[in-house]
Amino acid sequence: MNLDNIRIVLVNTSHPGNIGGVARAMKNMGLSRLYLVEPRQYPDEQATWRAATAADVLDGAVVTRTLDEAIADCQFVVGTSARSRNIPWPLQDPRACAGRMAEASVHEQVAVLFGREDRGLTNEELRRCNLHLNIPTSEDYSSLNLAMAVQVVCYELRMLLDAGRLPASEDAEWDTPFATRENMERFYVHLEETLVQLGFLDPAAPRQLMTRLRRLYSRVRLDEMELNILRGILTETQKFLPRDSATVSSPGGSE
Ligand code: SAH
Repeated sequence: MNLDNIRIVLVNTSHPGNIGGVARAMKNMGLSRLYLVEPRQYPDEQATWRAATAADVLDGAVVTRTLDEAIADCQFVVGTSARSRNIPWPLQDPRACAGRMAEASVHEQVAVLFGREDRGLTNEELRRCNLHLNIPTSEDYSSLNLAMAVQVVCYELRMLLDAGRLPASEDAEWDTPFATRENMERFYVHLEETLVQLGFLDPAAPRQLMTRLRRLYSRVRLDEMELNILRGILTETQKFLPRDSATVSSPGGSE
């Protein structure tokens, strides 16, 4: 496992105190890479105060405007969520998920996303993830404080590191790097465009088609070579299709 390849990404955090609490939780467990996507109030003295001696983690935090910027170079993305969403996604508890992250971190960039205090991560954000992580709780009250949720996840990584009991690695010997988020997003745009041209996807009534296809490919986790093959197939398919019908504007499209 390489903790330096694992980043904690906080999306749109409201309370600066929580950002400080997260920095401290990370440093206790040996993690240092913090990304802040559009924090409401940062830098802030409450963040510094709650970070205590983890000021270095806070000082090194990377602030980005969008989630995509924060995870563009990541090959394995985990989204944390207190509740289940409308389309179920591969879901693990922190212990099982720590094993997957540890394994991936040997050769890849890993991100763990944490949501807003009031409403968590959006469905759109959760769709960008290979795996969802849920911390088991009482049925009556499932929502942990943000910094405490980060603590639980980082603790499980620490336990694996210290025990040296990594699961056998499936990925270590892979011959091609896994696809980055950025390339996956380009692929989804291309796929959607082709499906519209084919008449398989009706932009006026897209239903959940793209979400289901994203889930399919997220489960497989494509490498760059496989991604290129699929892009090639799409390009060749498009040569047989009328040009004027593709009108896809944004990654993921509207659903
Ligand atoms: N009310 C929000 C919860 C926000 S808590 C909701 O219903 O989604 C802030 C963040 O802490 C969440 O976005 C998630 O990243 C993390 N978190 C809190 N409780 C969690 C749990 N039980 N499992 C996984 N992550 C959790």
